[in-house]
Amino acid sequence: MKLEKSIELYTKGKKHLVGAVNSPVRAFKSVGGVPIFIDAAKGSKIIDVDGNEYVDMVLSYGPMILGHRNSVVEKTIKKYLKKGYTFGASTKGEIILAELVCDAFPGMDKVRFVNSGTEAVLSAIRLARAYTGKNKIIKFSGCYHGHSDALLVAAGSGLATLSLPGSAGVPDEAVKNTLIAEYNNIDSVERHLAKHNDIAAVIIEPIAGNMGVVLPTKEFIEELRDLTKASGVLLIMDEVMTGFRSKFGGAQELLGIKADITCLGKVIGGGFPVGAYGARNEIMQMVAPLGPMYQAGTLSGNPIAMACGIATLKELKKQDPYKDFEKTAAFLERAMLSAAKENGIDLQVNRFGSMINPFFTKTKVVDFKTAQTSDTKKFKTFFWKMMENGVFLPPSQFEAWFLATAMSKRDIYKVRSAINIAMKAVAD
Ligand code: PLP
Repeated sequence: MKLEKSIELYTKGKKHLVGAVNSPVRAFKSVGGVPIFIDAAKGSKIIDVDGNEYVDMVLSYGPMILGHRNSVVEKTIKKYLKKGYTFGASTKGEIILAELVCDAFPGMDKVRFVNSGTEAVLSAIRLARAYTGKNKIIKFSGCYHGHSDALLVAAGSGLATLSLPGSAGVPDEAVKNTLIAEYNNIDSVERHLAKHNDIAAVIIEPIAGNMGVVLPTKEFIEELRDLTKASGVLLIMDEVMTGFRSKFGGAQELLGIKADITCLGKVIGGGFPVGAYGARNEIMQMVAPLGPMYQAGTLSGNPIAMACGIATLKELKKQDPYKDFEKTAAFLERAMLSAAKENGIDLQVNRFGSMINPFFTKTKVVDFKTAQTSDTKKFKTFFWKMMENGVFLPPSQFEAWFLATAMSKRDIYKVRSAINIAMKAVAD
């Protein structure tokens, strides 16, 4: 596999960019070697600067659910580019995207657009605190909610990839109101609720994707909804990853549960920087200009990003790919399990809709602790063999792989062939 040009750019990039990247997982630190630099992408494929072509299962960590440069989306963006890039005043696109989002999530009467998932979540936490007048929040170990101070504890994702317990530079005061519970363990939530009477909210990834894919049991998620309601604590569902991905109405539609506050990102911008948080009217009344909770953004509701988000969601609604995603993910699960069995490898595969990933362990993966039993050395071998055989995976055991509507049967067979080769290499 030729990587000379990537190596050259990596060496050059390190001079003025930290680790030559602008987000740590891109550095390939846990899988070793040099990060690839991308030249272009189209449909299901991504091409690096050395001309290597891969089936893209990173999909920019989720936003590119239609694949790259979908023709309808691209046409829309081009049209809106001609009108100007940002105005510091409202546009019709914001109203249309808000309608699409609120229709999909019945728990949301109103929405506020921001520029990233991180911003969406930190604003949602502020909103929960403003609304309840309470300070503490409960988060789950292994769930990632962006890189704001209060949430950078036991946070999965890049921190897990780099084996960091939290982040330097986060003062104790910033996390003293963050309580940690265990995913799929309702007792661990109950214990906090019994001990503290100033809890504003529980925040959860309703289907976790940042410790690898981890599913909530039906019982756990239903009890969590009931318990928070009974305790007067808001339930924040962080659907930055799952929104419009596991179903059009996100994990909430699939699980039949309504959050008090919902956070969105990734897919709703279709590849442009958009995040959002929303809730029923009574809660959103707190947000400025209606209420006393301040939150703002120079580029929030950016017209190009709104146009891209609208085109992406409309196309997604039209294509309704969720059943196909399920079938494809099931096919890949079977492929991984049978290749593992053939080669005597202990493997678990977790998947949900269009999110899937393997764990190299005997242990059933139901939370962060069990996710961490995965043999990351095996993942490293697996990862590079997949790359050599034309499949771009997230360079981390603890990130979900994604499916896109642009993936053809041929692409999926190519992924299966790569899996067969990579599992053999893991066993050798
Ligand atoms: N919440 C979840 C569930 C995420 O997966 C992510 C990013 O991966 C975020 C929040 C943060 O979003 P962003 O990277 O856009 O700030």
